[in-house]
Amino acid sequence: MRVFVAGSGSSGNSVLFETERARLLVDCGIGPRGMGKRLRALDVDFEARALDAILPTHEHADHFGRAAQLARTTGAPLLLHRGIAAPRLRASHDVRELTVGQRLEVGDLSITTVAVPHDAPNVAVRVEHRGVAVAMATDLGHVPRAVVDFLATADVLLLEANHCPRLLAAGPYPASLKRRVLSDVGHLSNEQAGAALRALRGARPARAYLVHLSAVNNDVDVATRRARASRPDLAVSALAHGAPSELDLRLDRRRRSVVYGQMSLPF
Ligand SMILES: [Zn+2]
Ligand SMILES: [Zn+2]
Repeated sequence: MRVFVAGSGSSGNSVLFETERARLLVDCGIGPRGMGKRLRALDVDFEARALDAILPTHEHADHFGRAAQLARTTGAPLLLHRGIAAPRLRASHDVRELTVGQRLEVGDLSITTVAVPHDAPNVAVRVEHRGVAVAMATDLGHVPRAVVDFLATADVLLLEANHCPRLLAAGPYPASLKRRVLSDVGHLSNEQAGAALRALRGARPARAYLVHLSAVNNDVDVATRRARASRPDLAVSALAHGAPSELDLRLDRRRRSVVYGQMSLPF
């Protein structure tokens, strides 16, 4: 499996999961042309192969804004959970129902989801292929135990580190927007992301990418330092707002087997 983050943050989110048999797009905040351009920078031809499914996590524009356009141009079905109303889209496109919490296969990709607390019904997504699992959780105001447990079953994490509370407080956002970002159904701060990583100590994740960083209220170095201070044993890096990247899915199998041995979680 290869995983490409075409963009991350308020200007558009999109992650492509690719195997020889399946292609899944999670989130659709970037249009087909933008996807083509950003993935070309990673030596990937977005248009060369059909998408098998498009899974938007929630209805906010930076995750959902280009859903109709991407579904139209790629012909791929949209997997929508019932928290996404989108009546016009449902009436005019190939929409399949995604039941949150239920496993779903797209080709040889196995997909699971869990609800996360946000001001629109939202899910974290875990995608597994041949024993390697990647979980992504962005746009959540806090990390409930159920989400920690969900993330604990992945090897590689894409975790929101949206803002530094100091930069947010001193920054240009109006007070109402600052309150929204900071609320229990807003976005994770660097500190909250660090606390989630600490709660995952001893669990399966061996690498974490910090994503959905605010271009205004955060900084790659600040976010990375904060997360590394929380988990010096974990490989952590932060993806700059909007920058395309391919995830490194190489895992130390010996370390994994030791970690498995200490845990009682069913894999
Ligand atoms: Zn977002
Ligand atoms: Zn959102």
